[in-house]
Amino acid sequence: MKKLQMVDLRSQYLDIKTEIDHGIQEVVDSCAFINGPAVQAFQKNMEQYLGVKHVIPCANGTDALQVSMMALNLLPGDEVITTSFTFIATAEVIALLKLTPVLVDVDPGTFNINPAAIERAITPKTKAIVPVHLFGQTAPMEEIMEIAAKYNLYVIEDNCQAIGADYVFADGKKKKAGTIGHIGCTSFFPSKNLGCYGDGGAIFTNDDDLAKQMRVVVNHGMTVRYYHDYVGVNSRLDSIQAAILNVKLARLDTYAAKRLAAADFYDKAFANHPGLKTPERYTRSTHVFHQYTLVTEKVDRKELIDYLASKEIPAMIYYPVPLHLQKAYLDPRYKPGDFPVTEHLCNTVFSLPMHTELDQEQLTYITQHVLNFLNR
Ligand SMILES: *Cc1c(COP(=O)(O)O)cnc(C)c1O
Repeated sequence: MKKLQMVDLRSQYLDIKTEIDHGIQEVVDSCAFINGPAVQAFQKNMEQYLGVKHVIPCANGTDALQVSMMALNLLPGDEVITTSFTFIATAEVIALLKLTPVLVDVDPGTFNINPAAIERAITPKTKAIVPVHLFGQTAPMEEIMEIAAKYNLYVIEDNCQAIGADYVFADGKKKKAGTIGHIGCTSFFPSKNLGCYGDGGAIFTNDDDLAKQMRVVVNHGMTVRYYHDYVGVNSRLDSIQAAILNVKLARLDTYAAKRLAAADFYDKAFANHPGLKTPERYTRSTHVFHQYTLVTEKVDRKELIDYLASKEIPAMIYYPVPLHLQKAYLDPRYKPGDFPVTEHLCNTVFSLPMHTELDQEQLTYITQHVLNFLNR
């Protein structure tokens, strides 16, 4: 059996090696390392894939979030509502810009931000909502957009984990995750569903003015060459990374189908087991399974993970600490117990290997050992 990994980038690469190597070599031969034709092509390809007017490539997902907030002209003291159960980057940029992160709890089934809790957290200082499409399915965007319209707030989707997912509105209309709010952000970190071979990111919007402003912000706040009207940042997607992304974007839906097949296998193996709760599928979104995350019930999670490690099965905890209990983010506004769903999840979830290269033999081996442990 092939060695088990949380993400098997090597096997995936070997399958597309000819095209990837060619794409990289082409950039090297052209020496158009910055903003070359591969970047322009990727921008167009991504716009077409998502059905969005503007894609602004940038250096990583964290920058995408930061640039969005800079372009919206949010000012120190403005409140930005986000989830307490996410990767730190979401709250990090809010704090870096001296905005005030306002955290809200999540739904215990989908792990995504709870719209009722968002509405309760709104104050006269609230300017934006940052829903995170955690683990591969979208947050309840229709409810969130209704709340945003009612209170006149911006919505920035953190779509670093759900690129390619479809959201279905009540009237049956579909939109790609990341294209529903005013701005969408994604990351091309190697292990993401659409990953490059280094760092990369992008911002999406249908708003012409916002797009224009964000292109200025990512390029040192420069409107005309060497004339800087704003304080910006330097955030670019390298041409080599864009060349890699062009190859992988063409396969994104196939990759999502492979992840879904692995998730279905896991679901079936663990169905109705009293020790595990399989990830809930949100009816309004397809699931692209960035992670396959289970909730343990009356199981010693550490013992389970140690047992799996002894069988060379990797398992990870995304995420072990809620944002409000992270040392750097401790705040007198918050205390343990404030976000009971998030806190419960942080204590009970674990994720199994999830990627495009899992085969039946590996999946059988993983599920059998998880069940062996539970049924001891
Ligand atoms: C990965 C990730 C980010 C940050 O992306 P980078 O490219 O690593 O900066 C932000 N938010 C979420 C939810 C992520 O998963």
